[in-house]
Amino acid sequence: MSGDTRTTKKLHKNRISRRTFMKTASMAAGALCLGGCAEMQNSSSTPPPVISKPEGIAVNDIHSQLNSTFVHEVLKPASVEVCRLIIQKACDQGRVISVAGGRHSMGGQQFADGALLMDTRSLNRVLDFDRNQGVLNVEAGI
Ligand SMILES: Cc1cc2nc3c(=O)[nH]c(=O)nc-3n(C[C@H](O)[C@H](O)[C@H](O)COP(=O)(O)OP(=O)(O)OC[C@H]3O[C@@H](n4cnc5c(N)ncnc54)[C@H](O)[C@@H]3O)c2cc1C
Repeated sequence: MSGDTRTTKKLHKNRISRRTFMKTASMAAGALCLGGCAEMQNSSSTPPPVISKPEGIAVNDIHSQLNSTFVHEVLKPASVEVCRLIIQKACDQGRVISVAGGRHSMGGQQFADGALLMDTRSLNRVLDFDRNQGVLNVEAGI
């Protein structure tokens, strides 16, 4: 017998039949399915995690939308006097204050969880214009 014929016979001997392959594959699939079903049974006996609904008003920056925060209240003062009242209210309630205008900043520093958010966009008046010096005096939310 030539060397080539011996190698071919050896290869045929080591090769598994189609029937053996199908049987082994279906057994493996069955075992995987049983494992998966057991896992599903285990998970159904575990109560689902309780995700509490966040309280407050959702705010975010307008560009990245990466700074979602729940503030307690959004207040829009239109005068310095109302700003003072808001600060007093925050002190009385023991709350932090955050200040935001157009919300273009993407750093998240304009919001705080549970804060009284002072939205300064209503503070939009021009207070004074010095033509000689070229100085414009405006409110903080303009
Ligand atoms: C895409 C992009 C491009 C930009 N390009 C430029 C640019 O070319 N030049 C430039 O100068 N800037 C640029 N900026 C920065 C942006 O314009 C500044 O962050 C701007 O000051 C935001 O103003 P705002 O009213 O939206 O303030 P917010 O984003 O609401 O707040 C910004 C910060 O100011 C504070 N703040 C807001 N209002 C008041 C207020 N009335 N009193 C006290 N504190 C206040 C907030 O607490 C916060 O810390 C860019 C930003 C983005 C996202």
